[in-house]
Amino acid sequence: MADTIFGKIIRREIPADIVYEDDDCLAFHDITPQAPTHLLVIPKQSIPSLAAVTDADSHLLGHLVRVATRLAAEQGLEAGYRLVVNCGTDGGQTVDHLHVHLLGGRHLGWPPG
Ligand code: AMP
Repeated sequence: MADTIFGKIIRREIPADIVYEDDDCLAFHDITPQAPTHLLVIPKQSIPSLAAVTDADSHLLGHLVRVATRLAAEQGLEAGYRLVVNCGTDGGQTVDHLHVHLLGGRHLGWPPG
């Protein structure tokens, strides 16, 4: 698959404000935060989107969500938060490397735009 800006962050070719890393994923602050807390949790494996996920990725997806919920607790988001995975053009995806948004710290409206 094509390289993306997130691939460059994983390889430390460009900087990011990294808050968590393990063998399988990386979490860092979104460069254009949409809420007081806006983190991105990404797999190190380059999966382009949810549409490319297979059964073999089930454990990894669960791991990304669990890391995000741990970070939500660490960030003090007791009042709640939202996990978002945009997929494809209609889903508003702009970076073709799977990522989970963790948004919190303010009331988030529904439905989304
Ligand atoms: P999406 O629109 O769901 O594909 O989300 C991509 C997100 O990546 C957006 O919220 C961008 O603000 C964020 N983003 C793009 N480039 C960077 C970067 N270099 N560091 C951190 N976040 C980024």
